[in-house]
Amino acid sequence: MNLHEYQGKEILASFGVATQKGIVALNIDEAVAAAAQLTKDTGTSWHVIKAQIHAGGRGKGGGVKLAKSLEEVKTISRDIIGMQLITPQTPPEGKKVSKVLIAEDVYYPGDSEPKEFYVSVLLNRASGKNMIMYSTEGGMDIESVAEKTPELIFTEEIDPGHGLQSFQARNVAFNLGLSGFAFKEMVKFITALYNAYIGADASLFEINPVLKTSDDKIIAVDAKITLDDNALFRHKDHEGLRDLTEENPTEVEAREVGLNYVALEGNVGCMVNGAGLAMATMDLIKQSGGAPANFLDVGGTADAARVETAFRLILKDPKVAAILVNIFGGIVRCDRVAQGIVDAYKNMGDAINVPIIVRLQGTNADISKKLIDDSGLNVLSAIAFEEAAQIVKEAL
Ligand code: GDP
Ligand code: MN
Repeated sequence: MNLHEYQGKEILASFGVATQKGIVALNIDEAVAAAAQLTKDTGTSWHVIKAQIHAGGRGKGGGVKLAKSLEEVKTISRDIIGMQLITPQTPPEGKKVSKVLIAEDVYYPGDSEPKEFYVSVLLNRASGKNMIMYSTEGGMDIESVAEKTPELIFTEEIDPGHGLQSFQARNVAFNLGLSGFAFKEMVKFITALYNAYIGADASLFEINPVLKTSDDKIIAVDAKITLDDNALFRHKDHEGLRDLTEENPTEVEAREVGLNYVALEGNVGCMVNGAGLAMATMDLIKQSGGAPANFLDVGGTADAARVETAFRLILKDPKVAAILVNIFGGIVRCDRVAQGIVDAYKNMGDAINVPIIVRLQGTNADISKKLIDDSGLNVLSAIAFEEAAQIVKEAL
């Protein structure tokens, strides 16, 4: 689950990570009130207005602006709230901004030496360890730093069983070229950040920039946070952080009915049982020259009702030109699944407007093939995987 910057910063602050202070606002009045409140709380007279969307690169797209008076807070908020913000990370049409974060200006006026760093915490799946990735080149997009100057990106690998060791936090501060008070502040910052990552059950923290002010404070200015969905049950308070308007509506609907669906870019809809078989099916579609339109794991029960729900979800995507059903009948018998498909198809009638290719393998596979072939419906059957892929190719 991805979070907005303002939600991420609240989590960071609750773990003692020093963050730029801010208040979220839904309209111009709230924005001005927030700015006045921040002036009271922090003494700041300048504010940054930051569009809250689930995409980075907002600064480049005009979604982050500095206001030097309450009048400017008003005019800039008016421009940003409701705008269609296009950044390198949004879809081409951009994303509509419905909230802004009003934040204290932490780049002191006339500050000659603010320094921006990049810090992220993530899971390195290959080594099975957590990783702090950091760079002296903050503020810009890390992909281009990785491409042009990979030597400026450092990593610390952390064994989750042992946790962050204090020498590792010192390594970070040292490699970022810090000394004196700023060094100590960075050690504190990294320690609190890692605790927050573990405590919140996150799968990604990306703080870009982490700012060193001229008086050597270390502050999180941005926060891109992804929480691990599998751990959400441990954090009832996090469920309310989900912003459904930022998510694919079909994925939201699928989650509600307990189906595991991920939208993709291709034109072959997939309905599969088991995540492993689903991955293999997507590979096979690719190899045969097509591209999967989705990942969909229907799980163990593939009765008519569930198959119909799955078909309806897949068909919401207008790109879908064919559907490949690939089910292994182990516990569930193939003929029962085949009957489910036939029943769902009959029930849906004209709603099914693309060819359906069914590959059933396992218990009673031959009976199920006959069941489908005799149904008189526009369903093509196969038992072998490659054969199914070939039929998909011909059907497109
Ligand atoms: P992103 O573009 O979506 O990554 O959004 P960021 O939160 O990283 O903000 C973009 C840029 O705005 C930062 O790299 C800073 O240079 C600038 N910025 C953010 N906060 C402040 C601030 O308090 N004062 C000033 N002057 N600039 C800021
Ligand atoms: Mn940023």
